[in-house]
Amino acid sequence: MSEALIKNFATKLIAWHGKDGRQGLPWQSIRDPYAVWVSEIMLQQTQVATVLERYPRFMKRFPTVMKLATASLDDVLAEWAGLGYYTRARNLRACSKQVMEEFGGKFPADPVLLEQLQGIGRSTAGAIAAFAFHERTPILDANVKRILARLFGIEGAIQKKSVNDALWLTAKTILPKKSEDMPVYTQALMDFGATWCTPRKPVCLSGEKKCPFAKECQANLSDQVLLLPRKVVKAKSPEFNCDMLLLRHGDSVLLQRRPDKAIWGGLWSLPESAWRAKEKNSKPSFSKSVDLTVKKLFQLVLPDEKISSVIKSCKPIERGVKIKHIFTHRRLWMQIWHVTSGDAVKFSDDDLKWIPLRQLGNYGLPQPIKLLLQGLNLARGDDLRN
Ligand code: SF4
Repeated sequence: MSEALIKNFATKLIAWHGKDGRQGLPWQSIRDPYAVWVSEIMLQQTQVATVLERYPRFMKRFPTVMKLATASLDDVLAEWAGLGYYTRARNLRACSKQVMEEFGGKFPADPVLLEQLQGIGRSTAGAIAAFAFHERTPILDANVKRILARLFGIEGAIQKKSVNDALWLTAKTILPKKSEDMPVYTQALMDFGATWCTPRKPVCLSGEKKCPFAKECQANLSDQVLLLPRKVVKAKSPEFNCDMLLLRHGDSVLLQRRPDKAIWGGLWSLPESAWRAKEKNSKPSFSKSVDLTVKKLFQLVLPDEKISSVIKSCKPIERGVKIKHIFTHRRLWMQIWHVTSGDAVKFSDDDLKWIPLRQLGNYGLPQPIKLLLQGLNLARGDDLRN
């Protein structure tokens, strides 16, 4: 490992940031740990352009950790709708309660304590400690792993513990000497990975700009830029099918609140059947409309409900669209089935609710279901976008 690079890295990176880093992002100048934390969580799996739009809105609705801790889960999920990875929203609320109850409403400065809070991993703890409290503590997200693996020629799959440990150690070794440099250094590291040392088009290969580390970067010197960091090849994610009931009565639609621990946990969605694994290379297998009756559909999607009174008031079933949704580790094909009920039948499950289409904006809905219902609403002249 180059001693000169270890010694000069932080200074050179900060100088690079002054000239070529991203400036003026709304969360860059903040030092309030609550605001830093929200921005870090929102930026985790969401593009900067989207966060630029949604972050100020979230902060306006929940300006303090206390406001967030005392908000209902439905309100937080509704505000988060469309950003995906809803566990983040549930964790935000749970973590804010922890901060109120265990730390008197003040985020701790120690990254070890921060890491014990719900939904805060080691790298996010490092970012909050560095930005809000100027702690000399490293971050190591995917961008930083890539930069370090390339710069220092760290071989081995980054999913391996030994490689990860080596990366953390390296990240710690190259920190700036002065704690007051930590915010700009941490931001510079994030910006450098997001804009210059990118996965497929790093500047050293495009030839458009001169990387300040080109002469010391091991990957560049050994022509291995696109080969580092090494990754274990992932198996293709499994695919599933399910049937979904879109039951309407007048201007209302029946929605079901999903269990907290499930995918889209806590959000309101259409009642759905159990997921069926899709055979490799086969077409999605849905129930066939010829043999699917309203009764069978209800048995599939609401097996615990007494359905005889509902069925009597329903018109024949109609096949709707098929929707494909890609999650991180699986793909889901959803076949929508339209049924119209003559009565707003009461169900025994409290998590089943008739919701007027015009009020859907008040609920947290999974994005594909939101778009589907938005289409219905537009067809009747309303718009549920909020
Ligand atoms: S030389 Fe290329 S690979 Fe190395 S740090 Fe610079 S941009 Fe990244």
